[in-house]
Amino acid sequence: SNMRAESLKVCVERVVSLSESDAISRGHELLLNIQDDSLYIYMDRDKIVQVLLNLVKNALEAMDTPGQVNLEISRLEQNAIIRIQDTGSGIPPEMLQQIFNPFYTTKDEGTGLGLSLCQKIAQDHEGSITVHSVPEVGSTFTLILPLYEPAD
Ligand code: ADP
Ligand code: MG
Repeated sequence: SNMRAESLKVCVERVVSLSESDAISRGHELLLNIQDDSLYIYMDRDKIVQVLLNLVKNALEAMDTPGQVNLEISRLEQNAIIRIQDTGSGIPPEMLQQIFNPFYTTKDEGTGLGLSLCQKIAQDHEGSITVHSVPEVGSTFTLILPLYEPAD
């Protein structure tokens, strides 16, 4: 398998470098806030990078005027918390139940597969994804992953 103990900081830095030109070409700012640089997670790194790329892409696509995406990593007890916050359109409360369903999209050229894949990968890592959103203000997606604990 491709499961290894990997640095979350290295992971998010890779996501930022892969997303930066997309952010700039859309006129948005992409900010990285590392609250804790010593977080390790037992993960398939390519898959977690894919999750974060999807969440950042959704955030960039949600803003139709110049805005900001904040990507933040921190620790809470035995979990890593990864937040992707945008200043975009937000999601109406009645749509929140549906956004993780395969093929649910509000985009002309969307597949609607991004979030369902993200949720599956999070679950495969014993983690979860939640969303908090305020229409016209923005959305925050939170990925929670258990920290790697060496067996000694
Ligand atoms: P797609 O991006 O192809 O539409 P996703 O599964 O990634 O598919 O997202 C499903 C839907 O959830 C989007 O079409 C959009 O309506 C909503 N959504 C996801 N992320 C955001 C976000 N950051 N802000 C507003 N809406 C979002
Ligand atoms: Mg998407």
